[in-house]
Amino acid sequence: MKAMVLAQPGPIESKPLKLREVPTPSPRAGEVRIKIAVCGVCHTDLDEAEGRLKTKLPVIPGHQIVGRVEAVGSGASRFRPGDRVGVAWIYSADGTCQFCRAGNENLCLNFRGTGCDADGGYAEYLVAPEESTYPIPEQFTDLQAAPLLCAGVIGYRALRLTNLRDGQILGFFGFGASAHLLIQAVRHKFPNARVFVFTRPGQKEHQELAKRLGAEWAGATGDDPPARLHAAIDFTPTWAPIVEAMRVLERGGRLVINAIRKEDRDKDALLRLDYATHLWLEKEIKTTANVTRQDAREFLPLAAEIPIRPEVQVFPLEQANEALLLVKQGKTQGAAVLRISESVS
Ligand SMILES: [Zn+2]
Ligand SMILES: [Zn+2]
Repeated sequence: MKAMVLAQPGPIESKPLKLREVPTPSPRAGEVRIKIAVCGVCHTDLDEAEGRLKTKLPVIPGHQIVGRVEAVGSGASRFRPGDRVGVAWIYSADGTCQFCRAGNENLCLNFRGTGCDADGGYAEYLVAPEESTYPIPEQFTDLQAAPLLCAGVIGYRALRLTNLRDGQILGFFGFGASAHLLIQAVRHKFPNARVFVFTRPGQKEHQELAKRLGAEWAGATGDDPPARLHAAIDFTPTWAPIVEAMRVLERGGRLVINAIRKEDRDKDALLRLDYATHLWLEKEIKTTANVTRQDAREFLPLAAEIPIRPEVQVFPLEQANEALLLVKQGKTQGAAVLRISESVS
């Protein structure tokens, strides 16, 4: 099969992903083989390609996979050939460690990420454990479903971790791909919640989009919102929004940081942290890590019910490096998705 393979990480400008002919994988016990229609392109794939996130090598990246089941391994009974399915970031967890036993498989000591610890979706075929494979609701085309499997599911996990109740005030810091999907889920799940959105100063179009999607107020990080936040989600790669979120959080409120890593460029913002202003009165900071299968199983039907319709920009598989370069430059129009099969909806 054809695959875009990463053997040696490097700057995306040097095109580290190479088109290769590799053996088509066979499903083992409990696995399915999926003929891939499309695979979303994510900032995490860029971190892998440029060597900031450790992966197995060589690796086929990609963890927002939509396709059709083509073969099933022994004992696999959830799907039949022809079923349309998706695979997200969680490839497998051991099911036996203390975190798995407590229902937190995202924290598993032996967590394996799709397209990171196991080969992913920048290829014509994928094998995956059937329990990490989800039916795709018919409301979505293949292309629309792909971004829901990462930006959508991870945002949904962050929302769950806020413990938000209907009628409360939720703040978003940053308004990119994940936030713009999530606000639609918030409006649906918590119709009386008030959403305030904070962007970088001058990002007027993001603020306008936030209001069109139901934010009651949108301003710049550092502005004083009309009321304090019961909960906040930080979607940014920087530190200043953490300090600002803590400043405008209501007593007892919780900030959830939805990021795999933070950049160092504005780390000195943390020196502004003042105990009385930012931390006291039982304010909390929590981070998200990975996703559970339950997050995907809950989010996909919810997204279909709303329905959420992600905007996508399509690239052929061979152009994965070019797509990732646009992700790096922040120049994609909607979520980038690789078209892999001839027949894609
Ligand atoms: Zn992702
Ligand atoms: Zn485990």
